[in-house]
Amino acid sequence: MHNSVLFTTFDPLRDAPEMCSVCSLRPPIFHFEFETDEDGEPQTIKGFCCEPCATRLLKTLECTESREWAEEAAALAAEDQDTAEFRKRLESLRALLVSELTRPA
Ligand SMILES: [Zn+2]
Repeated sequence: MHNSVLFTTFDPLRDAPEMCSVCSLRPPIFHFEFETDEDGEPQTIKGFCCEPCATRLLKTLECTESREWAEEAAALAAEDQDTAEFRKRLESLRALLVSELTRPA
């Protein structure tokens, strides 16, 4: 089970939106691919993001990693509060990303 986030630069003159596809507030500086296989369902969210949103995506990844580590430590039960809280956060971020990315231009 791996989650990943990939940031790449892009040619601003070619196929890049004017605004970040996550927050729509700032011009994007990276193309990103956020991959997660939560619930065994691989999902890739792609788009262009600004620097604060890149940090946000990285933080999300950090949360997935620390959650997996916690699971491996077996000290935390499946009902763990932090795990539930994290899942909620990831769900809402994913929902936000998907709604932003699929919104008609
Ligand atoms: Zn942004």
